[in-house]
Amino acid sequence: MIWFSSFRQRPQGQTSKESRDQFDGCPFTIRQLNRTTYLIRENDRFGEKPHIYVKKHTETLPGGQTASVLIVNDTGCGTSAPDNTSKSREWNISTFIDHHLNATGDTLYLIILSHCHYDHILGLSPILRPAKALGEPQSSHVLIASSSHARSFLEPRANLREHSLCNSMGLHCPSYNTTIWTPHNQRLTISHPRLGLQMHLPVTTLHTPGHTPDGLSWYDEEERALYVGDSFYEAPAPILFPNEGNLSDWWRSVNTLISFVNENNKEKGVSRVTLSAGHVTVGVDAMDCLMDVREFVKRVLRDEVRFTKQPAKRGERFGFWSEEGGRFSLGAPLKVMEEGRAGIPGEEWRKSV
Ligand SMILES: [Zn+2]
Repeated sequence: MIWFSSFRQRPQGQTSKESRDQFDGCPFTIRQLNRTTYLIRENDRFGEKPHIYVKKHTETLPGGQTASVLIVNDTGCGTSAPDNTSKSREWNISTFIDHHLNATGDTLYLIILSHCHYDHILGLSPILRPAKALGEPQSSHVLIASSSHARSFLEPRANLREHSLCNSMGLHCPSYNTTIWTPHNQRLTISHPRLGLQMHLPVTTLHTPGHTPDGLSWYDEEERALYVGDSFYEAPAPILFPNEGNLSDWWRSVNTLISFVNENNKEKGVSRVTLSAGHVTVGVDAMDCLMDVREFVKRVLRDEVRFTKQPAKRGERFGFWSEEGGRFSLGAPLKVMEEGRAGIPGEEWRKSV
């Protein structure tokens, strides 16, 4: 969630002439970020422009056979548009990924959800649709991983509807089963449904609550790339906290990421860790960005940043903090900021006298 759901009430209807024109063509773009990973950006009707990262991981098995998995970080807003050039006849996140990265159509999907906001999960619907059309709840070739930190934030379904913001925005919340509840700071292992064997992925998942309790970051050790979802990103998108946000948790998560990146940056003869987020920010120096965002929030807590009152959102008084030409800006319910100021140790953000 970046802008739309906090600063407007409802999406414009998708049938208006403007949005029809906007979607006259493929609503996705793709570019390669490193040897194994691609960034897909979605041109959606909400203006969220979410990032979807896809890493194609292939392992050679003892028998010489190879096994591949598409590691898909978030699924976007579920935008679809007619495709006059291909047999699938519709562009959606599923047909788009298959078109570019899944030529055989049978590669396993592992979806890592950075958190449950609608602009990260609505794309599950087209991905799960083929199995549902066959009467199955979920294809065995689609694994879905979420943070195990706060399962009650995601279950039962009524909680997911509320916390995904689907309820407040009048959207249909996709129905899916989480197949992997990922622990903190552990390598991810999956069992391949067709080959019946374990794949030890070069992926470490990290619990990073704050933006939401289910915030999940992950580290690709092969590419030395860290993905932080909506924990933070750079301007022009403001870092946003919904009513369920927690600034003290966020602060601890940023400190966790700083320690994690610091350890990995000690490795000699390799490049420094890069960081990519759920919106805007792609492939920046991780340590530099983490230190900068922590300094920015320190200044917010010290009231050194320009503050603007915003209209109430979901019943909560809301504010916006920004600096002229600054790398970051912030939008949050005032309550979240007050609780953060009380919860984060003063010596960590107050100026020493
Ligand atoms: Zn979000």
